[in-house]
Amino acid sequence: MGDAPPYRVAIVGAGPAGLFAAQHLVTQHDVPVRVDLFDRLPTPFGLLRYGVAPDHTSIRSVAQALARTFDSDRVRFLGTVELGRDVTRRQLVEAYDAVVYAVGASGDLRMRVPGEDLPGSGSARQFVAWYGGHPDATQQSLRGVRSVACVGVGNVAVDVARILAKDPARLAATDMPEDVLAELATSEVTDLWIIGRRGPQHASYTTKELRELLATPGLAVSIDDGALDAGHTDPEGLDRRTRANLEALREAAARPAPSPVRRRLHFLFWHRPVALHGAGRVEEVELERTALAPDGEVVATGETRTIRADLVLRAIGYRSTPLPDVPFDEARGVIPHREGRVLDAAGRVVPGEYVTGWIKRGATGVIGTNKSDAAETVGHLLEDLPALTRHPADPLEDLRLHGVHPTSYDDWLAIDAAEIALGAATGRPRVKIDAWADLMRLCRDGRMTEGEAAGVPSYDAPDSPTTDDLY
Ligand code: NAP
Repeated sequence: MGDAPPYRVAIVGAGPAGLFAAQHLVTQHDVPVRVDLFDRLPTPFGLLRYGVAPDHTSIRSVAQALARTFDSDRVRFLGTVELGRDVTRRQLVEAYDAVVYAVGASGDLRMRVPGEDLPGSGSARQFVAWYGGHPDATQQSLRGVRSVACVGVGNVAVDVARILAKDPARLAATDMPEDVLAELATSEVTDLWIIGRRGPQHASYTTKELRELLATPGLAVSIDDGALDAGHTDPEGLDRRTRANLEALREAAARPAPSPVRRRLHFLFWHRPVALHGAGRVEEVELERTALAPDGEVVATGETRTIRADLVLRAIGYRSTPLPDVPFDEARGVIPHREGRVLDAAGRVVPGEYVTGWIKRGATGVIGTNKSDAAETVGHLLEDLPALTRHPADPLEDLRLHGVHPTSYDDWLAIDAAEIALGAATGRPRVKIDAWADLMRLCRDGRMTEGEAAGVPSYDAPDSPTTDDLY
């Protein structure tokens, strides 16, 4: 690479998408590049840390592999910097040779039915953020909750149902914050509903995740309304995943109920919510039976039914939110792009700006999907770099002049060490620290208080504005 000064690339978002992009940039040897990975949190890893279910510990190896990105002295982590709040797009594009947006999907879709905003109705995204220990998560209460309705038949609904179906004692081996474990231990949930607006052959969950849920000890499984009857789910023409999903459901529905039954899990296909009802909080979900029109549209049949639910969690998909001053396609919920190169409103390439991950392609695919996605974006970025305007000085100096004072990777290592120590004190592998005040104190002081070291975390009020943008 010779002695040419390195190109400076800012990646906004240190989740899997941003980390894969950084990895592609620093593992190539044709173009000298330095990467600054920005995140609005003091912790890297995004959805790997806050979205992957805490009992899915095998995914930790992916996190460990991605963490090695920071071993390179050409990568810096710049935490607690939020685009739009602490730094503007203009400041970033003026300080760096190229900017990559990799912020994921921090919003979610809404059902748009009456009663959706009643207390007791919320998004699975918020529920996941809570049990995942996200510092912006809203505290969830299971008090008085007997019946839970999860709307949507994707992996998020399956994750949430599994966490609620499991014996909390089995969750103690995870890194869930102590207050979350304590709340789950009070659970009196007896019934879980998973509601699909189409049939079991259309569900988007993966077989591994479905089978894991169905194998939860003490779970009695039913498939309501004959959705698995032959004729509805003719195996002809179905792909392998779908056939395996149907087989898993059939097996689970046919097996004798366990003794004792801890929870009942009802799959209710071909139904969609039309209203949530309750006096002051959710008590019931009114559903209409659906069918497919010849054009593939989901249509109402006119038949309705009502189920009891004290908690309704919509798990109907995530959606990216616009970044201030960055082009955004409202209809598709993504930054418009051509193979990762950002496009302006007129469809012209914006030089030096790129996009990868969920904000590029929508909230689809698994963590690994981001690797090839980032490869496409980074490939074009590297092609373009020689023609882009150079900013040879250290961009961080510029940003500091604008009052940007990020936390560092060492600060994250202090949080990491504190979480492991907290775990050791309570006989767990790690306990996530989920209070902004504690995270920021660790960044400032690099150590825990005596109480924390003894396993007594302090759950101070957040000292940073909370937003609804969880990840
Ligand atoms: P998803 O897979 O897109 O599933 C969304 C579900 O919601 C679909 O069943 C969809 O039905 C339904 N839906 C959409 N709009 C609806 C409406 N208005 N009313 C009723 N139902 C509606 O989304 P997700 O479960 O949020 O997952 C997001 C991504 O994260 C996926 O790529 C997923 O695989 C990934 N993820 C993976 C894991 C894992 O690997 N363990 C865990 C969590 C998430 P239709 O099909 O009819 O539209």
